[in-house]
Amino acid sequence: MTAESPTPNAAIAQTLSTPVQFLKGVGPARAELLERMGLRVVCDVLFFFPRDYEEIVECDVDRLEEGRLQSVRGVVEDVDQRSTYAGGCVLGVSLRCKTGQLRGLWFNQPFQRDRFTIGQRVMFTGKPKREGLVWQMVHPKVDVLDQEEDEPATRLLPVYPLTEGLQQWQIRKIVRGALAAFVPLLDEVFPETYLPAHELWPLQRALPQVHFPDDRESLDRARRRLIYQELLILQLALAVRRGQQHDQRQAPALEATARIDARIRRLFSFELTAGQRQAIAEIVADMAGPRPMNRLLQGDVGSGKTVVAAYAMLLAVAHGYQAVLMAPTEVLARQHAQTLDRMLAASQVRRVLLTGGQPAAQREEVLRQIAAGEANLIVGTHAILQEGVTMAKLGLVVIDEQHKFGVRQRATLKQAGPDPHYLVMTATPIPRSMTMTLFGDLDISTLRDSPPGRQRVHTYLADESRRAKWWDFFRRKLREGRQGFVVVPLVEESDAAAGGEAANVEETYESLANGPLEAFRLGLIHGRMTAEEKDEVMERFRRGQLQVLVSTSVVEVGVDVPNATLMTIESGQRFGLAQLHQLRGRVARGKHPGFCCVFGDPQTDESRKRLRAFVASTDGFELAETDFQLRGPGDLFGTRQHGLPPLRIADLMHDRALLEEARRDAQSLVAADPGLAAEEHAKLRRMMLVRYGKSLELGDVG
Ligand code: ADP
Ligand code: MG
Repeated sequence: MTAESPTPNAAIAQTLSTPVQFLKGVGPARAELLERMGLRVVCDVLFFFPRDYEEIVECDVDRLEEGRLQSVRGVVEDVDQRSTYAGGCVLGVSLRCKTGQLRGLWFNQPFQRDRFTIGQRVMFTGKPKREGLVWQMVHPKVDVLDQEEDEPATRLLPVYPLTEGLQQWQIRKIVRGALAAFVPLLDEVFPETYLPAHELWPLQRALPQVHFPDDRESLDRARRRLIYQELLILQLALAVRRGQQHDQRQAPALEATARIDARIRRLFSFELTAGQRQAIAEIVADMAGPRPMNRLLQGDVGSGKTVVAAYAMLLAVAHGYQAVLMAPTEVLARQHAQTLDRMLAASQVRRVLLTGGQPAAQREEVLRQIAAGEANLIVGTHAILQEGVTMAKLGLVVIDEQHKFGVRQRATLKQAGPDPHYLVMTATPIPRSMTMTLFGDLDISTLRDSPPGRQRVHTYLADESRRAKWWDFFRRKLREGRQGFVVVPLVEESDAAAGGEAANVEETYESLANGPLEAFRLGLIHGRMTAEEKDEVMERFRRGQLQVLVSTSVVEVGVDVPNATLMTIESGQRFGLAQLHQLRGRVARGKHPGFCCVFGDPQTDESRKRLRAFVASTDGFELAETDFQLRGPGDLFGTRQHGLPPLRIADLMHDRALLEEARRDAQSLVAADPGLAAEEHAKLRRMMLVRYGKSLELGDVG
């Protein structure tokens, strides 16, 4: 590509950081529009990727086929408008084309007239029809073409995201101009031999082709290069971070000797599942080493993660270290504490619970015990424990993140000396492409099987006509001694003028308490209640004093009440797939089968598919994949949610093969050159730091 002499203003040095205003076709006004889309300097424009491509089947007029979608370009020769007898109007625009004439017709759209001027170059796209000797298109799509240059003969035109006041042809022209002037200035980040070895196009070749591809094949190769680069930089950052967290840090080596192992296992009243044994083996291997464990334990709801975590905690305690378990909510912290109490009833391990709801004096005492090393096993909420609790001798931190995970959410617990080991638990299985990125710095243990004797949950999707029947069934089960939930979605504040979600769930509660569930003991939980209030209701439900819990999705995570077998979900279309699955996981945790009824009114194709998938499968891993596919990139599972800058061209789901490739390559690069300190890696390193230095805290690399 030859550089035509770039932008007029000689006073501005021609670099990739030249403000967009100095690009051809961009003045102050348009610069402001570009700025609105985040395009400030030339480089932003060059890497402003099309969101799609338009395939243009372009024809000369004498080769048009009737009824087929085609495009014809020409010059506006005549614009006429006339009224019809019926009081309407017809606008006719005649194009002079290379081999004939084409007329565009608009009925009753007089305002279209203002779009055209004589002599303007445009392209009409539509299905043509011959009227006598003249070809016509009714209501064709109009693209105004560049005045000076011809659009090249390419049939794939980029489609860019737009902002109000900016048109597709204008942005195309700006990008084209920027490419022509600045591509020669682009620096190649990869070492010389790297590109051919990995079948990658040079950047200077790939970038123009991503915007204005010659054909599909060129587009694929160009995209491959740019997607690979983006994923490689991400994977490098993760690999470097992992190295920092792993290799440069010290943690106590806590070996699970045969005696310790036997002592811990004696506490479990059941056989461990194969998955639990495997996960424990992986954890034991990690904790025996002098580097901090950094492991994610993922398992479907009810797969028995807590037991695995308890093993790890007891291993730390057996060596005289403290272990901390952080839960996302007070309810769950308390529940974990109770589980551990039951498990350790006969042991001498000293346990404390630290929550926000405790009286100050009690809390002071707990803090003192923690600081003095008198407490071995500490359970609390993320919030409390991150607030700067001083530990005497911390060996292990278990973070029950449920599904509110994130790369950056690592606990910061103060203590002198070596780092603790880390175990993060998540109840939402994570698709593999996610574990490779957002969790790329963690080792992963997976519980695939559930404990034996686990009952299934029968799931139904119902509409309003089934309501009476469901409540019949619900009442019958309550009379048999079971308990149940009724879950109402959070309502956006704007949806419900007064009271928001509380109003919604309170309304449901009232109508049930005075209607179908009149004869039963109902409890209510919603987000505006204090932690203690919620706790108290939860506790009464757990003890069976309440038979039904009406709540917002606060019960979604982790609540373990084995006698609860009934789950009613209202407005199911408002919940995500992972959330629905979590809700269903609240029932059938004991010896009785569960019944989950989702009332839903799906308005979109996506929500219909989501609800169908939910009913069709009870496998959390399968649902996680479906969810990821339905949501597409950039949604809840997207990078932004997790504190990483968004990806610009790669799509973690679609580009999974390339992701694996980039990951392998990044790992071997970092294995050979841990700080990317080699001269030939300098540019990769700089790019990695610019993009991820902050979000991944890579500050002290090299
Ligand atoms: P989750 O993975 O959802 O946190 P839990 O650890 O809460 O699951 O376990 C769910 C239930 O299964 C608990 O009541 C627990 O005591 C029980 N459980 C865990 N492991 C086993 C096992 N190997 N055999 C039988 N029951 C088990
Ligand atoms: Mg759990």
